[in-house]
Amino acid sequence: MQKLIIIAIDGPAASGKSSVAKYLADKLGYLYVDTGAMYRAITYYALENNIVENEEAVIEASKKIDLKLDYKNGLTSVFINGEDVTEKIRTHEVNAKVSDISRIKDVRAQLVKLQREFGKNNNLIVEGRDTTTVVFPNADLKIFLTADAKERAKRRHLEFKNKGTDISLDEVEKSILNRDTIDSSRKVSPLTKAEDAIEIDTTDLTIEQEIEKIVSKVNELTK
Ligand code: C5P
Repeated sequence: MQKLIIIAIDGPAASGKSSVAKYLADKLGYLYVDTGAMYRAITYYALENNIVENEEAVIEASKKIDLKLDYKNGLTSVFINGEDVTEKIRTHEVNAKVSDISRIKDVRAQLVKLQREFGKNNNLIVEGRDTTTVVFPNADLKIFLTADAKERAKRRHLEFKNKGTDISLDEVEKSILNRDTIDSSRKVSPLTKAEDAIEIDTTDLTIEQEIEKIVSKVNELTK
């Protein structure tokens, strides 16, 4: 049997992780796992059930919930106990709370366990804040994407605009900076660059240029 390959992509909010991860997964035929969607799903569930402030209840929920990801045609559909929550996990409300939920150690332990399961039988493109450091520290290729906060805010703002969500650029930037601060300073699995990760600053790169850079690294790996 051929060795399974794991490519992990890490970096702060709106640094371009998802676009590039999806492109690579499609191109290579690898399974794509959006770990952020998993933290978002738990957050959405906690908001819906009014338990965001109750850590024990959130931990309990993270163990009980039947969480499923299904990636097809550029979209990860997310299901909680059979309910399709794909759109509902991408709201400003979830954005505002997700970093608080993802700080909880036992929630992380639960989700990391699920994430590692995906890597057992699949070539994998896995994306998210601790995937190169904690989830798959032995990944075959580790990419750390960065971009200037203003540029990241512009990208996220455009996404909201395209979805018809009315929110100012300023508010998006504040929310991104807030998430950066919480994600980088939390005690458990903070956002940090793995020593052996390849760092790419995408501030001035188009998505095509970004992909080109990463594809050349992947080609080195698979040749
Ligand atoms: O990548 P995305 O913006 O969807 O992630 C949402 C949030 O989920 C992040 O701000 C972070 O708090 C959390 N997260 C995490 N670890 C991951 C992926 C996401 O803590 N591996």
